[in-house]
Amino acid sequence: MAKFEYAPAPESRAVVTIAASYGLFIGGDFIEATDGSTYETINPSSEEALAEVTEAGKADVEAAVRAARAAFEGPWSRLPGTERGKYLFRIARILQERAREFAVLETLDNGKPIKESRDFDIPLAAAHFFYHAGWADKLEHAGLSGGSGQPPRPLGVVGQVIPWNFPLLMLSWKIAPALAAGNTVVLKPAQTTPLTALLFAEVCQQADLPAGVVNIITGAGETGRLLVEHPGVDKVAFTGSTQVGKAIARSIAGTRKRATLELGGKAANIVFDDAAIDEAVEGIVNGIFFNQGHVCCAGSRLLVQENVADDVIMRLKHRLQTLRVGDPLDKNTDVGAINSAAQLARIRELTEIGEAQGATRWSAPCNLPDRGFWFAPTVFTDVCQSHRIAQEEICGPVLSVLTFRTPQEAVAKANNTPYGLSAGIWTEKGSRILWMADQLRAGVVWANTFNRFDPASPFGGYKESGYGREGGRHGLEAYVTTGANR
Ligand code: NAP
Ligand code: MG
Repeated sequence: MAKFEYAPAPESRAVVTIAASYGLFIGGDFIEATDGSTYETINPSSEEALAEVTEAGKADVEAAVRAARAAFEGPWSRLPGTERGKYLFRIARILQERAREFAVLETLDNGKPIKESRDFDIPLAAAHFFYHAGWADKLEHAGLSGGSGQPPRPLGVVGQVIPWNFPLLMLSWKIAPALAAGNTVVLKPAQTTPLTALLFAEVCQQADLPAGVVNIITGAGETGRLLVEHPGVDKVAFTGSTQVGKAIARSIAGTRKRATLELGGKAANIVFDDAAIDEAVEGIVNGIFFNQGHVCCAGSRLLVQENVADDVIMRLKHRLQTLRVGDPLDKNTDVGAINSAAQLARIRELTEIGEAQGATRWSAPCNLPDRGFWFAPTVFTDVCQSHRIAQEEICGPVLSVLTFRTPQEAVAKANNTPYGLSAGIWTEKGSRILWMADQLRAGVVWANTFNRFDPASPFGGYKESGYGREGGRHGLEAYVTTGANR
């Protein structure tokens, strides 16, 4: 199929300065690790080393939690909400001012297309700070007292661990509500994507945020484990895999720690025969190929009504051939690099299992770069519900297609995974949308759209997709206590 040829339109990487090495951001300063080691973070589209980053050890985690405790006991938890709000507004504005720098850095470290980091990740991260800045002085009026009659109070020190798929955005989902409610935080970004969190640490300095309110410690899973298991942490907020989420839940059982867990998903994107098919195809593409499918709420299972299945699949394949896969810094790129060699290996393993179990594989023809981690947009048809590609999170640009005949069958199939994070419905019947939304065991249900986010809208899962909500008034509940129970 003919594709329009575009001249290269690379965003300049000169807008961001990356240091050769980074320490840990503890107590308002970048410091050397006490007992940590170092590792290199790389650009997954070229395998080029970007910077040397610290892997925080036990003593470093200890120092970070201590700094967060001191800041909590010190000024922060006693500041009036209006004052906390000012800091959050300041951070939000700095994120906007430095948006281009953040976007380029996110794309370099993560591999996602610049048009996504520029138009989605960074603006939405700033929006989360703006939104929560507005809440900081209104918590008493938000119905968060749980009937105690007492004003809501912060919990204390929050340990936060986030994944690599939306590094700065996940940071903002975690830090903005925690600070708005008067908590202090220690955050560990994912091992492969630490750089925007470290740049965010500079923003905290620029905003004159009191020392220790935000602490950023880099490292791998072990650093995350040390953080969530630290006895000085009052609340754990985690986004990542269900497997690690379960380990965290086990490790904090019996302690007084609170937790919110935002885990994996295997969302159904359900297309009825009365849907606007071309719009639905755009929604399917956005649902699973946005951010290389590295999205916990990705529409990784397409459930299409049988009588329109051939038509939908034909149009979908046609559309996928127009996607531009390649240099993430090019402004015309639609699909960037897979985040790491490990994630690429997992995608390959599961797609090979898909073929071995009898599903039919089709990949969009595209020239993948020689270096870096790449995977062509892929669609599996002839998929059974029992296939692993229909049950397990692949977290990559891979769509599994199943069919259904009746709305009841669509619901049964959509709910038939261990997960329950999100779902999509494509139909022109409003009554059907409402009926389906009621039946689907999913925290978020999109109708005639997909992957829409807003700071005011709570996000979270059912079943093995975790518990607790992030965003909106609901998200604040996880960061306050009401006197009666503390
Ligand atoms: P993960 O292993 O759960 O990692 C998430 C975060 O937890 C990372 O910061 C990780 O550090 C840290 N971590 C790892 N082990 C830990 C432990 N025992 N205690 C505390 N923290 C720990 O997820 P992943 O490696 O990013 O991806 C694995 C799978 O999870 C993917 O294949 C995908 O299916 C799914 N996933 C889900 C989401 C989501 O938003 N729900 C996002 C990404 C991936 P490291 O960075 O060092 O591993
Ligand atoms: Mg990286």
